[in-house]
Amino acid sequence: MSATIIDGKAIAARVREGVAREVGSFIAETGQAPGLATVLVGEDPASAVYVGGKQRACVEVGMVPFDRRLPADASFEQVAEELDALGSDPAVSGILLQLPVPEHLDGPALTALIGPDKDVDGLTPVNAGLLSLGRPGLRPCTPSGVMEMLRDTGVELQGAEAVVVGRSNLFGKPMAQLLLAENATVTVCHSRTRDLREVCSRAEILIAAAGRPRLIAGDFVRPGAVVIDVGMNRLTPAEAGNKSGLVGDVDFAAAVEIASAITPVPGGVGPMTIAFLLRNTLQAARYQQNLLALLSGLDAGELGG
Ligand code: NAP
Repeated sequence: MSATIIDGKAIAARVREGVAREVGSFIAETGQAPGLATVLVGEDPASAVYVGGKQRACVEVGMVPFDRRLPADASFEQVAEELDALGSDPAVSGILLQLPVPEHLDGPALTALIGPDKDVDGLTPVNAGLLSLGRPGLRPCTPSGVMEMLRDTGVELQGAEAVVVGRSNLFGKPMAQLLLAENATVTVCHSRTRDLREVCSRAEILIAAAGRPRLIAGDFVRPGAVVIDVGMNRLTPAEAGNKSGLVGDVDFAAAVEIASAITPVPGGVGPMTIAFLLRNTLQAARYQQNLLALLSGLDAGELGG
């Protein structure tokens, strides 16, 4: 029997519509639209395409885009200065440093310079720590998008055996934390996992994010499992067997016959990432607005000044 295909485009469109409605209310309440700043260092064509997509999506939901570009040879100090300027600009609700940055720069060190209240990628140490402690904060976009897909598909998370393949700070680790927070039993695999097939075949929820084309073969998939393919691997159209040349980490043709539900690549997880970037920007704008209201309601004495 063929699995249900989880339509990431449709779910992401619903999330974006919801954000657009809430942006309308936010503007009505505050007289200001949330602003999203993207910072791109260098001219990597793929990164430029991603940034362009984020800018357009931002405008579509009624937010104000700030498009900052620095040359490929920009110094750490120059990028830090840009992040600092955006950090103190009240019109900017969220800041996204497009990764990867050129090799001479330290991406994690630059990301850590973004204030946690504007960290719409959820990658700063403070937000990563809050997630790990189970406290509210801004969560990384792609794992948040996967959680929404699981909710939308009606997957029971409590007590479920979930396996995440990949342990990156960007995806694997926050994904595992989000699943754990919903009471799934989570196993995280990586390149040194001894028997990947055996571990994956225990999963009721299998999430692949290794960046290895078709690593997850049909016999890795437990019958009836829900399979989420985060991988985005670019091959030639002939190798991929499709026009886009994009394939995931899962052998889709095999897995679709075994799983109960599965995401395609493209059209699966990809669209969810931008949708949650918009949602995070709105959340950041609300947080800043509430803080402002709180501060303006306190007199200097209450603030200890
Ligand atoms: P990453 O930083 O390269 O991490 C890859 C992880 O996979 C590492 O933990 C690595 O293990 C593990 N791994 C690699 N080969 C493996 C193997 N043969 N068996 C088991 N584990 C293996 O990548 P990432 O940033 O997390 O991204 C992963 C994939 O998701 C990429 O294809 C990326 O393009 C895609 N992605 C897509 C979106 C989206 O919006 N759709 C967003 C984020 C990422 P070690 O730690 O041991 O090296």
